Amino acid sequence: MRRSTALGGILEPVQSRIRIAMAMQIIASAATIVPYVAIVELGKILLSGDADTFGVVLPVVWIVVAGLGARAAFGSGALLVTHYADVSMQAILRRKIVTTLGTLPLGWFGRNTSGSVRKKAQNDIADLHYLVAHQAVETVGAVATPVFGIGYISYLDWRLALLAVATLPIYIAAYASMTKDMDVKMTEMNKGIEAISSTIVEFVAGISVVKAFGQAGKAHSRYRSAAISFGDAYGGWVGPMLRTDALSSISLSAPIVLLVNLLGGVWFVFAGWVTPLDVIAAALIAMALPVAIMAVSFGMQARREASAAAGRLVELFETPALLEPSNPKSPDGSDVRFDKVSFSYDGTTEVLRDVSFAMPSGSVTALVGASGSGKSTLATLVLRFHDVTGGAVTIGGVDVRTIATAELYRYVGFVLQDVQLLNESVLDNIRLGRPDADLATARDAAKAAQIDERILALPRGYDSVIGDDALLSGGEAQRVSIARAILADTPILVLDEATAFADPESEAEIQRALSTLARGRTILVIAHRLESIMDADRILVLDGGEIVEQGTHDDLVAAAGHYARMWTAHQRAVITDAREAAAR
Ligand code: ADP
Ligand code: MG
Repeated sequence: MRRSTALGGILEPVQSRIRIAMAMQIIASAATIVPYVAIVELGKILLSGDADTFGVVLPVVWIVVAGLGARAAFGSGALLVTHYADVSMQAILRRKIVTTLGTLPLGWFGRNTSGSVRKKAQNDIADLHYLVAHQAVETVGAVATPVFGIGYISYLDWRLALLAVATLPIYIAAYASMTKDMDVKMTEMNKGIEAISSTIVEFVAGISVVKAFGQAGKAHSRYRSAAISFGDAYGGWVGPMLRTDALSSISLSAPIVLLVNLLGGVWFVFAGWVTPLDVIAAALIAMALPVAIMAVSFGMQARREASAAAGRLVELFETPALLEPSNPKSPDGSDVRFDKVSFSYDGTTEVLRDVSFAMPSGSVTALVGASGSGKSTLATLVLRFHDVTGGAVTIGGVDVRTIATAELYRYVGFVLQDVQLLNESVLDNIRLGRPDADLATARDAAKAAQIDERILALPRGYDSVIGDDALLSGGEAQRVSIARAILADTPILVLDEATAFADPESEAEIQRALSTLARGRTILVIAHRLESIMDADRILVLDGGEIVEQGTHDDLVAAAGHYARMWTAHQRAVITDAREAAAR
């Protein structure tokens, strides 16, 4: 139900054009029957023998020609209209995707990258083609042509009309049984294909080991048995279906329809109900009907894909947008406050509960806590990746929800766990926050981030494109994002486990880059290595989404609570590491 309204919403902009096309198809369907009617009526006149042959035949020839012409013109005209409608709908949807992606909270992109979303959405738009350009017109044709045809046959004689549709129930029954558990079977089939490809991957990935140990035959046989069992399952499903399909098609095929109509017709003529001419007319029209009806079943798969695609698009469009404030305010200063903040991703489990603290301008605040305690979530609330579900986050006394997005990112910069570099030049990636910065300025930032030399070593230096000829390690990508933050030069910075994925060599460099970056700013930092935050002005200990302790390192060690235990554990780990290093 939701899906069909969703579809309606997507098709809305082209709905009136689709209706025009449907009307045109009705005319085309009527025109399909016109030549038959004209010929039958002509036959009746000629057989009655009392007409001026030429005077009657010529107008009928014209009617036949007009009927055929109208059928072709309106039929293809209808499809032309819907194909144009499809083109404009695609353009509308593309624009809508771009605007939707622009309004989504940045936190949404943590789970989906905008590139992959756009690509998937593009495919979905293409999949809608059948729905817009064919579905309505073909369905109308499949109904209207038989209605006109059978209507005329009933006008000749109602018994002939029954004869004309006699084979239809067989077709409908076969078709229904064929599509009954299509979805279940499709899922089974996809599983089978996955099983085969995973054995292939295994086989190829392990080929050297397999060969080295002389096990090639064994690995091979696993693939073979996966393929055989898939083949059996596929045959078991498709075999009966093909037989059913053959049966259903035969029941509507021209010879069968003709046979049924003629045999039945002969009986009716002997019974004295109809004339032979009526029988021939009815048989001819009955033969023209299956084509129209079967056109609908041919589109079955396309229709499934199209409605699935429409569902996905609607889901994207219905993702709640991040609201831009209607009366944006500017922060007065660069202090950050959390005031009784609570937050939930799904509306049921609270990830943060009643969190309050203040970060004075120019101070360093560190967040520590077990994995999953909500550190990253808390940090991204300052960046408004998500909106709080209770309380408020303020910058310079102003709620982040009332600061215009562009202005917000002039105040807050970030270096996060999963570095997101764009598939653009290294230079453009660095100056993302300040697109007008020149190369020299960008290089200064890169130097401060300890990454300038590495970039110069790339094939095209600063013009190398990320992912194409600029292939960077995790630590290097991290330093590019630090350079970006340095250049953006925001008074507030959020650093989330910025050294988490760095290799040991680059960790020291990243630390050095970060301390350059941190100077004079308001910092919120999350770090695993506790000694890197020992000097923080304030340490907040987070547990299960609540602040359980706060104070300086010395305060917290003296308090002998959560933090003190973490500190002792950490010290022990450091000593063990050092011993192991010494032993090596
Ligand atoms: P930390 O950074 O301290 O490890 P996180 O803030 O990443 O903790 O996660 C806190 C809780 O929120 C976890 O239970 C995690 O599973 C959940 N969570 C994190 N990100 C999302 C998300 N995008 N959607 C839903 N739940 C999330
Ligand atoms: Mg985290």
